[in-house]
Amino acid sequence: ESLDKGLEKTKSTFLSKLGKAVVGKSKVDDDVLDSLEEILVSSDVGVDTTLRIIKRIEARVSKDKYVGTDELNRILREEIAGLLSETNFGTETEYSVPKDKKPYVIMVVGVNGVGKTTTIGKLAYQFKKQGLKVVLGAADTFRAAAIDQLQVWADRVDVPLVRQNMGSDPASVAFDTLSSAVNQNADVVIIDTAGRLHNKVNLMNELTKVKRVMQKVVPDTPHEVLLVLDGSTGQNAFEQAKQFTKATEVTALAVTKLDGTAKGGVVIGISDQFKIPVKYIGVGEGLDDLQVFNKIEFVDSFFS
Ligand code: GDP
Repeated sequence: ESLDKGLEKTKSTFLSKLGKAVVGKSKVDDDVLDSLEEILVSSDVGVDTTLRIIKRIEARVSKDKYVGTDELNRILREEIAGLLSETNFGTETEYSVPKDKKPYVIMVVGVNGVGKTTTIGKLAYQFKKQGLKVVLGAADTFRAAAIDQLQVWADRVDVPLVRQNMGSDPASVAFDTLSSAVNQNADVVIIDTAGRLHNKVNLMNELTKVKRVMQKVVPDTPHEVLLVLDGSTGQNAFEQAKQFTKATEVTALAVTKLDGTAKGGVVIGISDQFKIPVKYIGVGEGLDDLQVFNKIEFVDSFFS
């Protein structure tokens, strides 16, 4: 229900455009396909993914057969679901971490302003609600505000935050955080890291060093590298995904701010292009406004 609400704008824009594209049409002709292409691109599905969807639809409907709005809607829904199911993710419905990895270590990356801190706070809240012991680490030491903001969330959720002064070595904060988590027998560690893209080599070096130091405390960590992207920025989110995947091995995505934007289609495009699971979506500013991304629910809420 809250997913429907979070995606309201995407959905209403999308469906009303879709309705207009087929109104008065008696078949799926080139006009309809062109409109469809335009609608998908303007919902930020991305050009490549849009073309893939159009191709699937072309292959499926014979162009002179009558297709009403409902039927086109259904076909589109099935084809998008089909496209997303080519990637084996997005079927989870709960916040969970593997029990054999303790502490389970999540390193969070993303540029400033995308909702990284908020997402960490929301995640900590959800894990804590599951009865898991959570420790946060403030390894984005470049801005004092980033550390303070994370402290606000840590206090709100009531979980410990390991921090050092601004400008200290991110790897050192990561080391302290993991050590502290091990001492406390924590279940989940969430570490905030650098959000600067302007120097790619530095970013890569910094993240590599943070990882290396983490592994001194807990082998094979981080278990998850979660990239946070702002869904309302559409193509910028694609660009950031490209950059970060070059700098480090990203294993999961969180797409934020899908409420209040008509660009929710970005999730479909990103899933398709990067073949990295979209694990969470942000649909508001509150503690509860993070959802485990489930592609079936997502596509359903898009079209119904
Ligand atoms: P950071 O710089 O990446 O750590 O970004 P913040 O977590 O501080 O978030 C930046 C702004 O985006 C804040 O005003 C948040 O309340 C807002 N924000 C984060 N996630 C969401 C979301 O899912 N929906 C909405 N509407 N706002 C969000």
